[in-house]
Amino acid sequence: MEEIKDTVSTETTGTSNFLADMIRDDLATGKFGGRVVTRFPPEPNGYLHIGHAKAICVDFGMAKEFGGVCHLRFDDTNPSKEDDEYVQSIQEDIKWLGFDWGDNLFFASSYFDQMYEYAEQLILQGKAYVCELSAEECRLTRGTLTEPGKNSPYRDRSIEENLDLFRRMKAGEFEDGAMTLRAKIDMASPNMNMRDPVMYRIQHKSHHQTGDKWCIYPMYDWAHGLEDSIERVTNSFCTLEFEDHRPLYDWFLEQLGVYRPRQTEFARLNINNIVLSKRKLIQLVKENYVNGWDDPRMPTLCGLRRRGYTPESIRNFVATVGVSKVNSTVDYALLEHCLREDLNKRALRVMAVVDPVKLIVDNYPEGQVEYFDADNNPEDASAGKRTIPFSRELYIEREDFMEDPPKGYFRLTPGKEVRLKHAYYVTCTGCDKDENGNITAVHCTYDPNSKGGWTDDGRKVKGTVHWVSAEHAIDAEVRMYDRLFTVANPDNAEEGKTYLDYLNPESLKVVTNAKVEPSLADMPALTNLQFLRLGYFNVDPDSKPGKPVFNKSVGLKDSFKITK
Ligand code: ATP
Ligand code: MG
Repeated sequence: MEEIKDTVSTETTGTSNFLADMIRDDLATGKFGGRVVTRFPPEPNGYLHIGHAKAICVDFGMAKEFGGVCHLRFDDTNPSKEDDEYVQSIQEDIKWLGFDWGDNLFFASSYFDQMYEYAEQLILQGKAYVCELSAEECRLTRGTLTEPGKNSPYRDRSIEENLDLFRRMKAGEFEDGAMTLRAKIDMASPNMNMRDPVMYRIQHKSHHQTGDKWCIYPMYDWAHGLEDSIERVTNSFCTLEFEDHRPLYDWFLEQLGVYRPRQTEFARLNINNIVLSKRKLIQLVKENYVNGWDDPRMPTLCGLRRRGYTPESIRNFVATVGVSKVNSTVDYALLEHCLREDLNKRALRVMAVVDPVKLIVDNYPEGQVEYFDADNNPEDASAGKRTIPFSRELYIEREDFMEDPPKGYFRLTPGKEVRLKHAYYVTCTGCDKDENGNITAVHCTYDPNSKGGWTDDGRKVKGTVHWVSAEHAIDAEVRMYDRLFTVANPDNAEEGKTYLDYLNPESLKVVTNAKVEPSLADMPALTNLQFLRLGYFNVDPDSKPGKPVFNKSVGLKDSFKITK
């Protein structure tokens, strides 16, 4: 893991990659007159996920590195799946991640008039036609990778007739699906995207930005390049699957004789043990396989945030993965590694017991309370100190006592001495049991000369155990998480199965009887903590005053085994 650590940068994607080299070249040759304008173009049809974080770091990060600007543009060309809820959440998540678009907030829908004019221009140039083939017929005549497509019987309509029909499409004279506007390019092109692609379809549907003004909506491939051109974007970064669409974007811009940005593709982010398809994420939420978009098991940015991820940990992860031209899958453990590295620096160290059993210090005076000082974070002196109460009855983890331990067990066991963190050395004397043999309490005696958890007689103890004072403890709920899927690649389901068959039934375990130290009674939501010896946790927004709820963010060490 040491190697990974060395490459982690607090920058986003840095300036040593092929995208940065290209911008440097353009700046040197003056291709765009010294301007650097990028854009992040989400479609508001879902919440942002960790894959989008990569695109955001690339788009905003590159603009920042080179003193340019990055536009946030909603690619809102399909009203049937879009919603203002997504428009809002996307802005919130980008800001949280640490990026800023300034005044450059745009909506593709505000270019609908301009796009419509461009479409009429293509019709007038004889480069677009109104086609009455159904979607199915269109698909059947498109050909295959090895066979050319067939020309539509409507392909040779006159310019006048095309213009008239297109205007009537816009005026709402026709039903959904009755006709489309298609580009007239080449049904035999080896690039399927060039086989007379659809530019507009009829959809009598209200739009979250334009209301009922339109009943024809532009297709993504027609709209996307125009949006970049209208905004005078210099560098349009896309994921690799758009490489084959680039000739089409260029064709449109060339026919129209308008400004042409430079599109460059990079590999998308894939991570094992999760799904990143928006369709699947929506299904997980809508069909209640998880508790909402911000369920801490979700790979959405709001889910990761609620889980305890910080913006820095995500940016470091993206920087560590880097940008390349080759698709690959990153191990989920790397994401967790980046979180752990970051939380090690910032999390407050506290004591909590998630599976409590009483520990009674028999020789400690009844009713006495002592307060011990504890560092909030040994990695960061500015985090300060707090005091922790100690008394005769404590809670410890059930697994920190064993009557007949195996060799190498250095916790509480009759006759052995251990350190209670920050407090005293104690020697275990035995335990109480109920009639079924279950342990109900553990007993010990303490050494008053070991105050603060150490002695000056050179005596050593092998184990250190965390605890909370029973009288002062706060009852808490702790939500423990495991991977949402049990296999590395849930997308690649066996015959007859879907990704849903690989959901991990153990991915959420709720502990309702945890005991935590009093300083945790009212911590602000999302505060990052390290429960000593247990892992990193954070405060869930479901917490109420005096009734905290915690999420387990990640363990102290990587312990997950991938099942194949
Ligand atoms: P879809 O288009 O199927 O709805 P999408 O994930 O591409 O889903 P968009 O809203 O179009 O969603 O994505 C916005 C931007 O984020 C696009 O430029 C897209 O290429 C990029 N992006 C999406 N997923 C990833 C990923 N896994 N890795 C890197 N970039 C991604
Ligand atoms: Mg997309």
